[in-house]
Amino acid sequence: MTFDELALDPRVLEAVKSTGYTKPTPIQEEAIPPALEGRDVLGIAQTGTGKTASFSLPMITRLAKGRARARMPRSLVLCPTRELAAQVAENFETYSANVKLSMALLIGGVSFADQLKKLDRGVDVLIATPGRLLDHFERGKLMLNGIDIMVVDEADRMLDMGFIPDIEKIFGLTPFTRQTLFFSATMPPEIQRITNTFLQNPVRVEVARASTAAETVTQALHPVSSDRKDGLPKAKRETLRDIINAEGDAITNAIIFCNRKRDIGVLHKSLEKHGMDVASLHGDLDQRIRMQVLDSFRKGEVKLLVASDVAARGLDIPDVSHVFNFDVPTHAEDYVHRIGRTGRAGRSGKAFTLATKPEQKYLDNIESMLGGPIPIAGGTDAPDTASTPEPEPTREDAPKAEKPRRGGRGSRGRDRDVADRKTDDTPEKTAAPVAEEQASEERGDRRANRGKRGDIRQKNRDDRSSGGNGNGGRTPRGLGDHMPAFMLIPLPDLSRRKGKDGDDDGSVADAA
Ligand code: AMP
Repeated sequence: MTFDELALDPRVLEAVKSTGYTKPTPIQEEAIPPALEGRDVLGIAQTGTGKTASFSLPMITRLAKGRARARMPRSLVLCPTRELAAQVAENFETYSANVKLSMALLIGGVSFADQLKKLDRGVDVLIATPGRLLDHFERGKLMLNGIDIMVVDEADRMLDMGFIPDIEKIFGLTPFTRQTLFFSATMPPEIQRITNTFLQNPVRVEVARASTAAETVTQALHPVSSDRKDGLPKAKRETLRDIINAEGDAITNAIIFCNRKRDIGVLHKSLEKHGMDVASLHGDLDQRIRMQVLDSFRKGEVKLLVASDVAARGLDIPDVSHVFNFDVPTHAEDYVHRIGRTGRAGRSGKAFTLATKPEQKYLDNIESMLGGPIPIAGGTDAPDTASTPEPEPTREDAPKAEKPRRGGRGSRGRDRDVADRKTDDTPEKTAAPVAEEQASEERGDRRANRGKRGDIRQKNRDDRSSGGNGNGGRTPRGLGDHMPAFMLIPLPDLSRRKGKDGDDDGSVADAA
């Protein structure tokens, strides 16, 4: 199929052609025709598939007719982050170069006054993050009853960030007759519920599974341990430097992902002190600075970008040669999004993940989502103790703690997961390869890799099956990571009554 066959406005076609696109991507092929007819579209697609053009090209075509009224935008695009909103706005500007449409970007960190001026003049396309949009609405500066087309981009990200109540509210403020174009990389139940409630007989368009890691990305796992209780962060920084130095010139540019903002500040300073060319990107930075950082990273003016997950999704940063997971992401899907920053458009890329014992449970989730283990890096498992001594970061290195987000249920939940991780870590010996490593079955392979990492959970499962937990192999269910001591007291008469003991559901292992 060609773009000419898509019934787009000729001026839009001209703009598309001048970008150099030769043919529509699968999501564009499937989503543009129904969107042009005014139908609701449910697009299940991740970033990199061309989804932005799949909603903006038909929108511009439809909006090319008609005029905007003051404070009554005609269309609305909701994005989870400022960066994504700014990127969508850039795309709109490109595709609408030959059409006279006004556009406003409502995002945090940008002056209210400038945004108001634009709204007063009337906008055809309003691109916003949910919080800033509702701020404007609640101040009476904006009406949403003129919205003809509403787009929700990266809905599952909105869910993670706790924006769903805001999204529902915004849906309720727009006319029932609007057209809705809704995009999400995955469809968790909460998102399914929203689409059932607010979309009318949508055309469902699905491209590529979200849980598939790109085949062009070489992945490697680096177990990290420390013989000091509080030494893990330092050991991770040393391991990271070792890998960066070992990769040398192969790194043209890299993103280093941390789970917590305060670690971003510490790591940034540490890499800088070791003479590395580094910048950082996270949600506490002023919007202007964030855009500058992204810009200089895109232009290749800075080589290493230490970032939070805000940079993992939606942002179009071409040609990243390496991704480092300084922390194992707590949400398995984020792993795919993070490593998806490299190996794009058929190019090859490398993704390294540093993992400590407390992060094992996140790693397990990721590996079960991927359907196999991440290969352990050969020969670089142990941090090189001969490397340059690490200057200990000072207290001032750490940026201020993250403020809770508006309605930030998901965001707080995520931070709690990470904060709850115990930092204690007895020295983790990299175990000798175990016999069953040769097993060809997937389960056997996974067990072998666990053995290499000294996975205490697998060990406990094995102990349990031989009665080694002191509880006759009985496994109480539903206790998560904690099992009260009284549950470990042997109760011989109960086992007789039950007839059979030892359900293998992993909970004893978790409790150890
Ligand atoms: P998106 O999934 O919208 O973030 O788009 C990812 C990248 O694909 C962006 O750099 C777009 O400029 C590019 N792109 C979008 N549509 C096409 C197309 N039809 N052909 C080639 N590249 C495209």
